[in-house]
Amino acid sequence: MRLAHTGSKQTFVEYEERENSERMREIDYNALLVDITDSIGVVTDAETFEILYMNKTALRTYGLSDAQDYQGRRCYELLQVADKPCKNCPIGRIPVGEMYRWEQFNQRIGRWHDNTDYIVEQNGRTLYVKIARDITQRKEEHLSLTADLTMEDTLFHCLRILSKESDTSVALQMFLETVAHFYQADRAYVFEFDLVAQTMSNTFEWCADGISAELDNLQNLPIKLVKKWIKMFERTGEFSISKLNMELNHETDEYKILSAQGIDSLMAAPLRLEDQSIRGFIGIDNPKRQIGNLQLLRSAAEFIQAELEKRKMLNEMEHLYKVDMLTGAYNRKQYAHYIEKYEPRKSESLGVVVVNINGLKDINTTYGIEYGDEVIRRVHELMCDCVHGQIFRVSGDTFVALCESIGKDRFYGFISDLRRSFSEQSDCPSSIGCAWQIGEVVPETLVKQAEELMYAEKRSYYDGILKNGSFLRRNDLAGEVLREIKQGRFVVYFQPQIDFSSGTILGAEALVRKYGEDGNLIYPDKFIPFYEAAGVIRYVDLHVLELTCAALQKWEREGLELRMSVNFSRLTLMEPQIVDTILAVCRKYQIAPSRITVEVTENINKMENSHLLQLVDQLKENRFHISLDDFGSNYSNLAVLSAISFDEVKFDRTLICDIETNAKSQVVVKNSMKMCEELEGSVSVAEGIETKEQMDLLIRFGCDIGQGYYFSRPVSQEAFSALLKEHRLYCSCVH
Ligand code: C2E
Ligand code: CA
Ligand code: CA
Repeated sequence: MRLAHTGSKQTFVEYEERENSERMREIDYNALLVDITDSIGVVTDAETFEILYMNKTALRTYGLSDAQDYQGRRCYELLQVADKPCKNCPIGRIPVGEMYRWEQFNQRIGRWHDNTDYIVEQNGRTLYVKIARDITQRKEEHLSLTADLTMEDTLFHCLRILSKESDTSVALQMFLETVAHFYQADRAYVFEFDLVAQTMSNTFEWCADGISAELDNLQNLPIKLVKKWIKMFERTGEFSISKLNMELNHETDEYKILSAQGIDSLMAAPLRLEDQSIRGFIGIDNPKRQIGNLQLLRSAAEFIQAELEKRKMLNEMEHLYKVDMLTGAYNRKQYAHYIEKYEPRKSESLGVVVVNINGLKDINTTYGIEYGDEVIRRVHELMCDCVHGQIFRVSGDTFVALCESIGKDRFYGFISDLRRSFSEQSDCPSSIGCAWQIGEVVPETLVKQAEELMYAEKRSYYDGILKNGSFLRRNDLAGEVLREIKQGRFVVYFQPQIDFSSGTILGAEALVRKYGEDGNLIYPDKFIPFYEAAGVIRYVDLHVLELTCAALQKWEREGLELRMSVNFSRLTLMEPQIVDTILAVCRKYQIAPSRITVEVTENINKMENSHLLQLVDQLKENRFHISLDDFGSNYSNLAVLSAISFDEVKFDRTLICDIETNAKSQVVVKNSMKMCEELEGSVSVAEGIETKEQMDLLIRFGCDIGQGYYFSRPVSQEAFSALLKEHRLYCSCVH
């Protein structure tokens, strides 16, 4: 909980002593001790423990008359008559702004207090603020009531505590105390398991007077320490050990840990989920009465389990209220809250990063909302990876990260990491703006600065897309591409693929070319990246498919059965209903899907993996073949191979071109081809074969299909027809 409310309307303040000290006047006690008219309020310097301020109730309670009675005195000396800070003192244990609630017996006045404490910073000083309620009466009633209860009464009392006390930690504390009283035990505690990390932590504890608290020492311990206990819980439920000394092997960790805490006997009961799995336990140490009465412990475990479930649910609800459901980033409401409550501090800095996704609306309309959602999630992930700070999703396409107290160099380091990540992920086009300032920052001003820089970057992004003076919007560009398609400006070239087992052409890869205004052929490298960035690549891909199917139909009528590989941009494949669209084209030309191989580039990033898996399944269901293109052009692909079963793996040209001389390429190609053989049904294809030597080596490595200038360059449809008619044997080595 942040302590940010300054409570200007609260009336409580006893302020008459304020002129007594210069130092006191600097600090706004009014703001610190809000809303506590009938409670004790004490403000202490968290570094020196010196009392700076006590309110009227505090003075009265401790029998003091004015500020002179406490000034310069340490809180533990004056208020607790002790020579060192209290055992549970929150100074140094809780972060600034956090609330800490605990019960304490005051030695000096013999009263019980329920403390609500904070550490805050004001005017460069760290202050410890204590607000205490006297709970002696409740405590005494409780203690006398629990002193000699029967089991039924104890259970009833426990139930009352849980139903009456709204604060879980207070309720569980009292609950454990009641259980401990019943058994006259030294200590009662709850351990909760973290099954993912396989650790357990002591989350609640009650200790009798004079017994040391162990909670802080018992965090994140390996669950396997209580392996034997878990077995006992599974076998017999709750259990007791009446003489640790005699019942446990002294060499075990279990014995060493327990005996170090002064435990001689204990009882424990498991906390179980509804499915009976064990998620922790409740235990008591050194019981002196009702030993062996495990029934109460069993019921207590059930109550505690229910209480913990309730607490978990409340935490989850609180979390949901604060976060954006899609990404898990803080939501706009939290952002407004943060800005409103931000307290500028002289010595501290604030860094702001604003990230806006370029053209999210277009992404949604072109590729579907689901894909748009993936882009948003991915942008958030990249921000989390690179920027250390609080990240908010402030609108559909905008994130703001706020980095408090991070040095300038480190902050700008985040930004360059972020820029690098975004440039590696062409699927998350975003504009970034940032600003950093030290001193008494006004966050809104800094956010505005960062926003302006972000907009400037966005303008240059769009200028870049609409380069060459043709200031076209996406829709206009789509219109232009469709017009060029109609004019027949796009053509398909076919590059033969050779089946190494027969030495003949078994099909081709369809590769697009475009006729420029001057009639010259333009190669895909010149226009495909631009069309991808502008979101119009789908028209080209589907047109190439259509031209390929038409060619296949023609060859089929001539009695030639071929298979064709067609390249699809990843963006096209992300489109909803893409499989139906591809099917419709095949149907139009009566081409069986099994004759089409869909080439997916291997540059598949994390974002698309789950999509791709679905897509591959869907394509396969419809009998299309799927090829993983450009395999080996970077390192990400091995993981993809194990996650998705492709019909074909196509080895990248860069691996093939130096295969004769580069031993590393040889190892990669040879072993990957072997792997393809082992991954059921995966065929290996090598592209970019330019020499006989390369071919021979690849055949030796078990390659199934070859493609490259050695056999033929990509050629026009007519030229490919001629090649087919030659019935040429391209290689003699049959394996
Ligand atoms: P890719 O899918 O890797 O296609 C293979 C490229 O390697 C082709 O370049 C081909 O001409 C070239 N190549 C084939 N054999 C050899 C050889 O022995 N030596 C050398 N040096 N190069 C060889 P191209 O036709 O310029 O295509 C470039 C890229 O454009 C393709 O790479 C593919 O990613 C993309 N592309 C082509 N057609 C389409 C299409 O219809 N849709 C989409 N989305 N992308 C396409
Ligand atoms: Ca390809
Ligand atoms: Ca390729």
